[in-house]
Amino acid sequence: MAPTRQQQDYLTCKHCRKDYRAITVFHLRNIHAYDGDHPINDYKRQFRLQTAMCARSRKKISKAKEDFWAKRGQHWTHATLIAEIRGLHRAGRSLRRGRVPVRVYEAGRRFFGTWQGAIEKAGLEYEEATGIRRWTPEKVVEAIHELAERGVPLASLVESDLLVGLIAVVCVAAVTFLGHTLPST
Ligand SMILES: [Zn+2]
Repeated sequence: MAPTRQQQDYLTCKHCRKDYRAITVFHLRNIHAYDGDHPINDYKRQFRLQTAMCARSRKKISKAKEDFWAKRGQHWTHATLIAEIRGLHRAGRSLRRGRVPVRVYEAGRRFFGTWQGAIEKAGLEYEEATGIRRWTPEKVVEAIHELAERGVPLASLVESDLLVGLIAVVCVAAVTFLGHTLPST
């Protein structure tokens, strides 16, 4: 059944059963005495709603957002987004969240589920591109090998407390970092 004009243009406030184009902050605060910082979020959570806006208003806003970016030549497709991510990387920019333009980050998450997913779809290595190193016991060992290869005289340290301490510190950091992924015993 096609939605009637009524269903498209209005939704009904769950409190007062009146129809509105959108349930607004003003309405919730003044009519229903909401006093939190985010009344609409509270309202949606309370009634398990996806939206507090009628379908027509939602369409209008989503269209307005697209127009906004389209005018700036930033209407993303998978291809242009991937090209942008690769371009930032080639330009030597960190792809860490907070360093990339918000619109790129948001588009990445929208298209590929997670920002990491977006980076990987662009054919880049997440850790390398973001500089975020996810320590694992294997990587700690790898890092120590790397130091050795670079000529850091580990051999002279092997018997010393310094190396033992260093490894202990790195292991504690690794375990802390991985805490939530380690099986509990
Ligand atoms: Zn109401």
